Amino acid sequence: MHELSIAQSIVETAQASALASNAVSVTAVHVSLGELSGALEEALQFCYALATADTILGGSRLVIERKPVIIFCHHCLALRTLPGIQNFRCPDCQEPSRDIRQGCELEISSIIIEVEGELDGPAGVGTAAECAH
Ligand SMILES: [Zn+2]
Repeated sequence: MHELSIAQSIVETAQASALASNAVSVTAVHVSLGELSGALEEALQFCYALATADTILGGSRLVIERKPVIIFCHHCLALRTLPGIQNFRCPDCQEPSRDIRQGCELEISSIIIEVEGELDGPAGVGTAAECAH
């Protein structure tokens, strides 16, 4: 399952970061999820709960921030946000473009940790997975 390996990778990165910050527990992990990352949000939430069960991240929330696809249109010479991932054409001039500038990412943006009873964070930031595109 694709999402399980992604979840495990998020957990490893977040755990290392939390331990480095002397966290006693982790409240939430915020991730940026590009529309092209291929990960399904519901499956990722499910796998995250499994992967965190016996770790310092147990019971923490996975907060997913979706990132739309942004291409660079070589006709308009501008960045364009695509309404979906079916059609890689500039929404303004309909020129096709494969120059993808955003939408593949799956990164931890911040980690909310608890240090000796106090809320702290955001802690370190790391890349959890590489996009195949
Ligand atoms: Zn254009």
